[in-house]
Amino acid sequence: PSTNSYTEALFPDGRLVVPGKDQLGKENATILMLCRNRELSGVLSAMRSLEDHFNREYRYPWTFLNDEPFTENFIEETSKMASGKTQYGLIPAEDWNRPSWIDEDLFKQRLQEMSDQQVIYGGSRSYRNMCRFNSGYFYRQELVKQYNWYFRVEPDVEYFCDFQYDPFTLMRENNKKYGFVISLFEYEDTIPTLWPTVEEFMTKYPQHLHPNNALEFITSKDMITLEGMIPETNHSYNMCHFWSNFEIANLDFFRSEAYNQFFEHLDQAGGFYYERWGDAPVHSIAVSLLMDKNEVHHFEDIGYFHNPFMTCPSSKQMKSGKRCVCRADTGNVDLASHSCLPRWWKYGAGKKFLRDSYNVE
Ligand code: GDP
Ligand code: MN
Repeated sequence: PSTNSYTEALFPDGRLVVPGKDQLGKENATILMLCRNRELSGVLSAMRSLEDHFNREYRYPWTFLNDEPFTENFIEETSKMASGKTQYGLIPAEDWNRPSWIDEDLFKQRLQEMSDQQVIYGGSRSYRNMCRFNSGYFYRQELVKQYNWYFRVEPDVEYFCDFQYDPFTLMRENNKKYGFVISLFEYEDTIPTLWPTVEEFMTKYPQHLHPNNALEFITSKDMITLEGMIPETNHSYNMCHFWSNFEIANLDFFRSEAYNQFFEHLDQAGGFYYERWGDAPVHSIAVSLLMDKNEVHHFEDIGYFHNPFMTCPSSKQMKSGKRCVCRADTGNVDLASHSCLPRWWKYGAGKKFLRDSYNVE
């Protein structure tokens, strides 16, 4: 990096901060994106969308993380797209690569099997590192440590409405700790032993279960899968999760002893590698068990697309008031058969008037 024109801003440990205009938003927050250099064009379009609809009025810093060093071109283009400062962190290898207790032969065998079964990302090694990182390591990164809040963004996502308020402030003032926009059923074959592992955790650490948890949201007597209902599986995980490519959340939750013991218990079980546990069900199960369900917030007014699903406000008044222009080529996922939102309305901190309008088991 010695010939890099950003060298002045480079810390000895590889962190890099490119100064920008002063922050206007009042919260100790960052917009966080894990991504690769080759995703630059999708990174820029996601940045443009979020800047235009929200951040240019607040200038919260963007934090980019990567398991490889960002290129000078990536840094230049993204820092120009941002309204405030940008920072770039190199993830330490030990926070990214699979841990020593993962058996290489068994891992290879499982990769092959899941690839043969055409499990989505079933044959990918890097995807597994990514899911484990997003489950247990993003909040420990040097650049992230200084913040209380993060807003997770991925390349190529789109936002459709003007925010018209600071979502971090909204969450702080209303005692919210986890915010989502879309909730779906997970692919069962990526997590065959996740729930039994969570049950072990609950038995081992009953003190961590919040008395006002959302266990009812994520468990059903009958198991619901993408293929349909499997009856009488005895109150197990119903595959509902918050889609984690969008998250606005409080980092102290992830730094808590409860969450870390939860992650540690899951990590030791090996399912991030021998199966393909996603960070979405991991975050969602943790949030549902360890948090007060009233601390979870559904942002119904943002309008968002991550391939292949879109959510768009259904209220005409909200849509025009917030100047939403949603995609015309994609339906609203909220009430689709694979959406868990009606279940959240019924069992989570849902809108009371909607609870009885949907016929949810
Ligand atoms: P999907 O949304 O589940 O299809 O997965 P993505 O490919 O979008 O990956 C999720 C997030 O992790 C995105 O922000 C990606 O840019 C990022 N990501 C995935 N794999 C890697 C990787 O190997 N290295 C880095 N640095 N980022 C990755
Ligand atoms: Mn994605």
